Amino acid sequence: MKFGARTGGHIARRRFGQNFLTATGVVTRIVEAIRPRPGETMVEIGPGLGALTRSLLERIGHLHVVEIDRDLIAHLREHFDPGCLTIHEGDALEFDFGALCAEEKSPLRVVGNLPYNISTPLLFHLAGFASRLRDGHFMLQKEVVMRMVAAPGTAEYGRLSVMLQYRFRMERLFDVPPGAFRPAPKVTSSIVRMIPLPAETHEAHDETRFARIVAAAFAQRRKTLKNALRDFLDETTLEALGFDPGLRGERLSVADFVVIANNCPDTRQ
Ligand code: SAM
Repeated sequence: MKFGARTGGHIARRRFGQNFLTATGVVTRIVEAIRPRPGETMVEIGPGLGALTRSLLERIGHLHVVEIDRDLIAHLREHFDPGCLTIHEGDALEFDFGALCAEEKSPLRVVGNLPYNISTPLLFHLAGFASRLRDGHFMLQKEVVMRMVAAPGTAEYGRLSVMLQYRFRMERLFDVPPGAFRPAPKVTSSIVRMIPLPAETHEAHDETRFARIVAAAFAQRRKTLKNALRDFLDETTLEALGFDPGLRGERLSVADFVVIANNCPDTRQ
């Protein structure tokens, strides 16, 4: 089955990353990992034809969903009780998850079999609401999940790892093979659990600067710290902070990046 073919009466659209989950055993396993409880506030990103939605609703009673595809929205309206499913029509990248927490007055649980083409910007968008989230459970390309949970010094460790581990404790739960979807993607997927860390875990005084330093450290992986961070601090300051200027960014932990960001002279970037 390819893009353009029908799944559940709908023609799957590549531009919206539509690979619909059809393996019921996988749906059950995901919902068991999430453990939804009645009364919780939960939002599903990209409900599609409702494979996860239906199973989540059986446990939770009410669910918010954010979906961009109008045809799928019409399908959801037809198949779900509006008293149980609140549909937010639009782009999850622009969705105000904070407003939903304020409206519902409880920390938000976020779930989704995410469209792979927007998964990284969506994770960064969600990270901005971390303090108001209870947790997140997402299906993503396995390779992306490996980068999210990677430890310093490994090939997968990079900007995504540091920026997400700054805000979340993350756990890769299990893999899902391509055959569980229609159309089948070319790659294996993984389920990841993300739990926001207490605010005091890592405290960058200026988070914009922290983000720029992390981006610079990984922009060219082979560059040493001294070269990669020359717009922010010099070799002497790096040494005074206890870092070998000849190291590469991939050796630094999240806490190390926070120390560097918090000790950059203000006169520099
Ligand atoms: N949850 C369904 C499932 O597991 O079968 C569908 C998952 S499919 C991989 C991704 C879903 O996200 C599709 O329904 C797609 O239309 C929707 N989507 C894609 N881009 C989106 C965006 N920017 N905002 C909201 N939904 C989006």
